[in-house]
Amino acid sequence: MKKKNNAGKILVIVTVVFAALLVLLAVLTQKNNDSANTFEKPSIEGQPQLGNQKATVTITEFGDYLCPSCKVWSQNIFPRLQQDYIDTGKVNFAFINTLFHGAGSQLTALAAESIFKKDPDNFWEFHEALYEAQPEEEHDTTWATNELMIQLAQAEAPSVDPIQLEADLKSQAAQAELDRDNVLVTKYNVQFTPSIMINGKMMEKPFDYDELTKLIEAALEEAK
Ligand code: CA
Repeated sequence: MKKKNNAGKILVIVTVVFAALLVLLAVLTQKNNDSANTFEKPSIEGQPQLGNQKATVTITEFGDYLCPSCKVWSQNIFPRLQQDYIDTGKVNFAFINTLFHGAGSQLTALAAESIFKKDPDNFWEFHEALYEAQPEEEHDTTWATNELMIQLAQAEAPSVDPIQLEADLKSQAAQAELDRDNVLVTKYNVQFTPSIMINGKMMEKPFDYDELTKLIEAALEEAK
């Protein structure tokens, strides 16, 4: 009888110790996951920015004009973010070219960088026009042509000389900017587009607006 009691006690102890180990493991894993997604705040110097440049919280989008999810994010999540946080001066927003779709990504990004250099005030209109131009249904990547870039530039940034823009696209005049962006893509281990960072924290689910607001509020609180 006594022996049975001891066995019961041992079983309880083993169970408790095992449960404690599981909890510890979960905490450690959580910590590792957190640190895998947390970096120092990226440098967005020389990048297109929107909002209050003195804001303590910066949201950085790693995006690609050829990426269908980026179009969806840009047209569905971004307007809410803009209304709630950018236009209210709470956060600053920056866009980094992330070239995951070959020649079309390269061309659209070169065009955007050229517009940003020559007519920064109209950059965001051109940026939106590129996503607007991306076809909804077919994931055909041949829609991005030099002719279309010039056509969009004339509509959104009419002060930019179309002949100069065409020459800049052909000579890849803005390549240094794309290289600068690619340094950030590598540094922050960007695996998919769009990737969204709140200060130094990489979001796991960029389409989850509730998570986005939670992370922004936490970052605003932390910066106080
Ligand atoms: Ca850039």
